[in-house]
Amino acid sequence: MADRAQALAVRWWPLAALVGFMLWLGPSQAGNRKWLDLGVEAMILATAATGLNVALGSTGLLSLGHAGFFVAGGYAGAVLGPYLLGDGSIAPDFVVRNAPWFGPVFAVVVGAGLGTALALACCHLRGFHLTAVTLAFGFGVPAVAVLAADQLGGLAGRTVERIPDTRNAFLARGHTLAGVYYTSAVFLLVALWLARNLSRSRSGRALTAVRDGEVAARTSGIDPYRHRVAAFAMSAAVVAVAGWLSALRTLSVSSGSALDVQTESFRYVITVTVGGVGTLAGPVVGAFLLTFGLGLDVFQQHLRDKLGLVFGGLALAVVALAPSGLVGAARRLPGRRCPARATLVSRSVPERADPADQSGETPGRPPARPTLVGRSVPEGAGPTDQRGPADRPRTDPGTVLLSVRGVTRSFGGVAALDGLDVDVVQGSVHALIGPNGSGKSTFVNVVTGVERPAGGRVLLAGADITDVAAHRRAALGVARTFQGVRVWHRMGVLENVLAGGHVRGRAGLGRCLLGLDRAEESRLRARASELLALVGLETRAGDRAGDLTLAEQRRLELARALAAEPALLLLDEPLAGLDEAERDRLVRLVRSLRSGGLTVVLVEHHVETVLALADTVTVVHQGVKLAEGPPALVAGDALVQEAYLGPASGGGGA
Ligand code: ADP
Ligand code: MG
Repeated sequence: MADRAQALAVRWWPLAALVGFMLWLGPSQAGNRKWLDLGVEAMILATAATGLNVALGSTGLLSLGHAGFFVAGGYAGAVLGPYLLGDGSIAPDFVVRNAPWFGPVFAVVVGAGLGTALALACCHLRGFHLTAVTLAFGFGVPAVAVLAADQLGGLAGRTVERIPDTRNAFLARGHTLAGVYYTSAVFLLVALWLARNLSRSRSGRALTAVRDGEVAARTSGIDPYRHRVAAFAMSAAVVAVAGWLSALRTLSVSSGSALDVQTESFRYVITVTVGGVGTLAGPVVGAFLLTFGLGLDVFQQHLRDKLGLVFGGLALAVVALAPSGLVGAARRLPGRRCPARATLVSRSVPERADPADQSGETPGRPPARPTLVGRSVPEGAGPTDQRGPADRPRTDPGTVLLSVRGVTRSFGGVAALDGLDVDVVQGSVHALIGPNGSGKSTFVNVVTGVERPAGGRVLLAGADITDVAAHRRAALGVARTFQGVRVWHRMGVLENVLAGGHVRGRAGLGRCLLGLDRAEESRLRARASELLALVGLETRAGDRAGDLTLAEQRRLELARALAAEPALLLLDEPLAGLDEAERDRLVRLVRSLRSGGLTVVLVEHHVETVLALADTVTVVHQGVKLAEGPPALVAGDALVQEAYLGPASGGGGA
C-alpha cells in the first residue's frame, strides 16, 4: 500500500505542482499585471504545446505550421463565433447572450476541420515531406488574412469585441486579466486531462505504435493513415483553442507575417522539445520555463531582439544534452523512476500462469490457451471495422483456412515467389522451410498484407483477401511475428501486448479521450498480463520493450500477436536466437495453441523442431514449391535432400 501511495505521488506530483503554482500565482500576483500576464501566456503556450505534442510526441508527425491553427482558432472563436451567434442571429436568446462562451466550440470545429483537411493532404507522406506541407500551410495563413482583408483585417488582424465575462468568476475578484488567467487554467487542465486519457487508451497506443513501427502497427490491425489524420486533427483542435485563449488575452487576432507564423510554430516545437516530447508534463514544463524565463527583466531589456538566438541555443543545448527533454532527463535520475502503470495493474490480475504448465488445466482457473482462440468467436467481439469483406473466418477443423494460389512477387527482376500454391488446413501447424532467400518471408508478407503480390490470390476461409489492407486482415484474424523482430521499442512491454490486442477492443476516439473506456481497458489489461505470463515476461511488464534482450523481444512479439486472438498465426523464424530451454518452451506453446484450435504457419530453419511440430511441411526453393507433405515424408524426399537438407547447405542452418 505504501508502494502504491508512493507510486501515485510520483505520478501526480507534476500536476499537483502545476495546480499549486497557478493557485499561488493568481491570488498572490492579482495586482501585478506583468506576472499574471506571463502566467496566462505560459498556460496558452502550454495548451498549444500539449496540442502539438499529440501529433509530434504520440504519432511522430513534425508540423512546422501549427501556429496556423492557433490563428485560425483565434479568428473562429473570438471573431466568427460571436459574429454568428451575436445580436441579430437566429440563435436562442440564451446563446446570443452568452455568445463569447461558444468561442471554444468554434475554435475546436474549425481547428479540427482544418487539421483534418491538411492531414488528408499530407498524412500519406512521411517525415520531411509531411513537414514541408505543414510549413507551406503556415505560410499560407497570412496570405489568406490578406486575401480576406475585409473579414480578417489583413496582416494587422482584428480587434476582439466581446470576450466571456469572467471578472466575477470564482477567484477573479473583478479583474479581467485574472478572469482570463483562470479561464486559461481551466482549458489547460482540460487539455491535459484529454491528453492523459488518450495516452493510456486504445487510441493513444495505436498512435504510438504507428510512430514506433508502422509495419507492425498495420499487422496488428491499426490503420496508420486514419490514426495519423485523427492525431493531426486533435492536435490542431487543441492548438486552435489556445489561439482563442490568446485572443482573450490580447483582445485581438492576427496572423502577423509569414515569418511570425513560422516563429510561433517553431516556438511550440521548441517548447515540447525542451520539456520532453511525448510526455504529458513536457509541454507544460517547457512552456512555463520558456515564458517565465524569457519574461525576466534581464531578457526583456537586453535580449528582446535576440530571442531567436536564445530559443535556438536552448533547443540545441537540450537536444545535445537531454534528447528526451527535461522531463525525460528527470525520469532518468536515479531513484526517480516512476513505477510503470503496468506493474500496478498486473498486481490486480489473478495468479500468474505458470509458463511451464502448458496443459492449461489448472484447477479453479480457466484454461489459458484454449480461450485464446475459443474466446474470440463466441464473444462476438469481431472486427471493430465493419467494412472488412467478411466476418472472422469460421471453418471447421480439417478444412482449408488459408489458400495461396499462384502467388508471384519479384524484387528487381529476382522472383521471390514464383507461382506458389499453398493450402493451410484449419487447426494444423504448417511449416514452411527452404534455404535462405527462397521466399518464405515474402510469403508471410503476402499473406499478412505487408507486400502486394504481383499475381495470384490469397484466400482466407474461402474469401479473397488479396486486396484487403494489412490492418483489415488483422481484424479478420491474421496475426504474425517478424523474422527481424519489430516490437515497438519506445512503448512499454505491457503496452506492446495491449496494442497487439487493438482489434479486440472497441473504444473509439471519443470514449478514449473522455476516459469512458475503463471497463474495456481493464479487461484488455488483464488479458495482456495473462499473455505476458504465458510467454514468461510478466516481470518485465513495466519495462520499455527496447530494453529487452532479442530473445525476450521475440517472446513479446508472440504475446503481441496472440493478443489479437488470431485464427491464423504466422511465425517467421521464431526460434532464431533462442536457447534450447526457450525453444522447448515455444514448441510446447505452439502445440497447445494448436490444440486450442489455432492454425499456425511456421517458417523455421530448425529442422528438428519442424519435424517435431509440423503436421504438414512445404519446402520452397527459389519461390516455387519443391515438396509438400507430412514431415517424415518430406524429410526423405530426394529433391529436398539435395536442395535443402543436403550437403550443399550444411544441414539447414543457412
Ligand atoms: P527467406 O525468408 O526465405 O529467406 P525472403 O522472402 O526474405 O526469403 O527473400 C526472397 C528473395 O527476395 C531474396 O532474394 C531477397 O533478397 C528478396 N527480397 C525480399 N524482400 C525484399 C525487398 N523488400 N527488397 C528487395 N528484395 C527483397
Ligand atoms: Mg526470411
